[in-house]
Amino acid sequence: MQNINSHRVFKRNEYDPSPDGDYVVYWTQTSHRLQYNYALEYAVAWANKLDKPLLIYEELSCDYHWVSDRIHTFYLEGMAEHVERAEQKGFNLLPVVEDEAGQSRAILNDIFDNACCLITDEYPVYFIRDRNNNLAEELNIAFITVDSNGLIPLGLTEKAPYNAYFFRKIMQKHFVECFTSPPKQHPLEDLENQSAIKWTKEQQQIRAKSLERIAHPEEFIATLDIDHEVSPIDIKGTRQAALGQLGSFIQYNLKHYDDKRNDPDADATSGMSPWLHFGKISEYEIVKAVLEHQPKNWDLDNITFNGGSTGGFFNGDPNVDSFLDEVITWREVGFHFAHHEPAYDQYESLPDWALETLEAHKHDEREYIYELEELAHSQTHDELWNAAQTQLREEGIMHNYLRMLWGKKVMQWTPDPEIALAYLIELNNKYAIDGRDPNSYSGIFWCFGRFDRAWQERPIFGKTRYMTSQSACRKLKLDNYLKTYGSQKALDI
Ligand SMILES: Cc1cc2nc3c(=O)[nH]c(=O)nc-3n(C[C@H](O)[C@H](O)[C@H](O)COP(=O)(O)OP(=O)(O)OC[C@H]3O[C@@H](n4cnc5c(N)ncnc54)[C@H](O)[C@@H]3O)c2cc1C
Repeated sequence: MQNINSHRVFKRNEYDPSPDGDYVVYWTQTSHRLQYNYALEYAVAWANKLDKPLLIYEELSCDYHWVSDRIHTFYLEGMAEHVERAEQKGFNLLPVVEDEAGQSRAILNDIFDNACCLITDEYPVYFIRDRNNNLAEELNIAFITVDSNGLIPLGLTEKAPYNAYFFRKIMQKHFVECFTSPPKQHPLEDLENQSAIKWTKEQQQIRAKSLERIAHPEEFIATLDIDHEVSPIDIKGTRQAALGQLGSFIQYNLKHYDDKRNDPDADATSGMSPWLHFGKISEYEIVKAVLEHQPKNWDLDNITFNGGSTGGFFNGDPNVDSFLDEVITWREVGFHFAHHEPAYDQYESLPDWALETLEAHKHDEREYIYELEELAHSQTHDELWNAAQTQLREEGIMHNYLRMLWGKKVMQWTPDPEIALAYLIELNNKYAIDGRDPNSYSGIFWCFGRFDRAWQERPIFGKTRYMTSQSACRKLKLDNYLKTYGSQKALDI
């Protein structure tokens, strides 16, 4: 249908969209945007084909894993933006903000009873993956998930990529064809049947309550039985904030990215991961905006397949090459991995060489052992680690280089690698605003060997890659970072 690559579309049950329903439903579960969204575009195409209006459903439940003031606030800020836009443009948006676990299910069942089909986002991890799998079993209307996650459609790979090089080769082969069939900027402009959906009494009631909750998030969140210790952060969960951050990254920091991306003091990375995670911005938009800053006269013909190597593929500004390698290859390798690997969050899904070497070193003596709570509150002997954890706990983000070190150290300070893995998943997904993402699992499992190769064997780490705070302190500029989040003492180690 339309120009959407068939590898993005997953028909989840035996039913076809039916003209007997009252509307087509698009449930925005992860791609929380009304622009550059293949799933929304696909839903619009079905609404047009059946000559039905489109119901856009967006919900915030209150009993998902790691639910906190931080995630709820960010999410509600994004919802407020949608509500405002729907009001301006007359879209049929039904926002449902729960104050009691399970409340939304009755609303949804009622919607499904009158729907021609349900179209939603394909997403390979977290409760969204399980929820989509369960819906596929339960629904008796057509249920289709559409992948708007990245540039390379999830259905294009045949198996879980075992490293970035393997995936980069696939990316390089398909980049031009994928980049030149982009999602539409404003898919809702194509919607033909603009009739207003007549909300039922229950829908009207929940809608009114939800609008009230969205308008007063602080008061509402305070009433919920969720984790209030993980507090809201300064960055806003809106698309507008995402576009502002992208613009400022391109203007000030893209030109230094290759040199300075590993320098916490320079703070030169894009900072886009929170909005990418909540689907406020599409990866396509980021890639397009960055490619517009290639040197003059550069065009897609300059792209040179280089067999999966880093650098040189985009063949223009090295900063652009370096950034796009992160946002396309490194971001997407984790999505494709999880798409093909149901055990993506289980220790057993590590590569065999890593499992063997970690097992061989499982009982090596550890000099320090910390409990989860001590780690969470930055109570280790390592000042740099504590500073990184403080940034994560208080601001919901952590610089990428420090994130690698942060993950690696926990393996040294816990009784065995499986406990280290469980602690890292807990800390990352509880505090990081970009957590609970395929990249959370890529990053954390990378610390234990996923997507990596064997290195020189050492105690505890075995043949997995080794990192130390001492060498980080020698290599990196950390003065400002430690002034802000920790103690200068770290530089003396
Ligand atoms: C232990 C550990 C845990 C991590 N947890 C998360 C997480 O929960 N959520 C998350 O989005 N990323 C995670 N990462 C990957 C990476 O650290 C972040 O994506 C990056 O720091 C985000 O900052 P940025 O947007 O400024 O990145 P930039 O350097 O500006 O890169 C642009 C985008 O490319 C992608 N990207 C960059 N580096 C990586 C990488 N190493 N792996 C995968 N994608 C990458 C991200 O989408 C990022 O937003 C983790 C890494 C490690 C080592």
